[in-house]
Amino acid sequence: MTLLVMGRKKAVSIAARSLIFGKPHHAQWFITRKCNYKCLHCNIWEEQDEEELSTEDIKRGMDVLKDAGIVELVLSGGNPLLREDIGEIIDYATKHFVTTIYDNGSLAVKKVDLLKNVDFVAISIDSLNAEKHDFIKNVPGAWQTAMEAVEVLKKEGVKVCVAPTISQINLYEIEELTNYFTSKNIPILYGLYSYDPDGSKQLFRIGKQGDDFIITDKEAMVKLCDTLLSTRKTNKQILITDKLLKTLRSLYAEGKRTWNCKALQNFLVIDHLGRIAGCHNQTVTNSIHDLPKNWKTSKFNTQREQYKNCTKCMYICYIFYSIYGTPTGHLSLVKEQWKNAALLLKK
Ligand code: SF4
Ligand code: SF4
Repeated sequence: MTLLVMGRKKAVSIAARSLIFGKPHHAQWFITRKCNYKCLHCNIWEEQDEEELSTEDIKRGMDVLKDAGIVELVLSGGNPLLREDIGEIIDYATKHFVTTIYDNGSLAVKKVDLLKNVDFVAISIDSLNAEKHDFIKNVPGAWQTAMEAVEVLKKEGVKVCVAPTISQINLYEIEELTNYFTSKNIPILYGLYSYDPDGSKQLFRIGKQGDDFIITDKEAMVKLCDTLLSTRKTNKQILITDKLLKTLRSLYAEGKRTWNCKALQNFLVIDHLGRIAGCHNQTVTNSIHDLPKNWKTSKFNTQREQYKNCTKCMYICYIFYSIYGTPTGHLSLVKEQWKNAALLLKK
């Protein structure tokens, strides 16, 4: 997924791990349940928890993930930058994984020195309209802070990208927002508004159902996919693959899910207490530290079979991890990872 240059040793190790099929490739670790924002489409801020794993437990967990074959690690929350030990966690993560960390724009500048080795620092900006962004984030001044954060991070040499969540509220301005940031050489990493299925038992809740956010203009969404597919040919700052755009296009044009979910197969999630699930909408499977002895058990295989046919959600990250969870999809990611290694080996 990345062509950004990373450390030589790390690139080689990542490329080697990428070649092994049948192991999980992506993990998303929600390392804290604390957040300093109150986004209208999110449940997290209303369900915060002070309890979380120690630094050492997280490092041990990352060792497990590396041995399990994980290549890409997303550190999120809550706001992961609220953890006091975030510098130590980042140092450890960036040595082994293609690492992405999310911030709502409020803390990255204060922690800029800790972010220099992160592969993607994703700052959430949903609109070029300050009032609209502040409304979504439910925090006055959020837009100004986030815009300044992007500028500062870029100046400081951090690999910053802007991460808008596409919803009905900002659907018609995603193209403009994309052009605005990419013309400044700032990549865009899209999210897609989604909400958790109702009433189910799950690891924890993220997306809150909101009528203002649900994409009702499906034609406009299809048009956006077409525009991005075409713009991507010359604009390499658009961090979404053609395969994912085509998948989303089918979903909105024909209502067709063209993928099987690969939860607990190609990807998994870990919560702030170190509990694992195929995705956050499913129940706890076990603890991160017990993953090696459980990965090949019939219990996990049964869950994988259930998840394969699950159609309960459409979070973009889970779709992405699923469509690259086939042998051919995995190979195309491997190719991408080898490009990283090749770039470095030439240096
Ligand atoms: S979307 Fe992110 S920044 Fe907003 S409340 Fe939820 S966790 Fe916090
Ligand atoms: S479709 Fe996949 S990611 Fe979504 S709820 Fe079902 S198992 Fe989880």
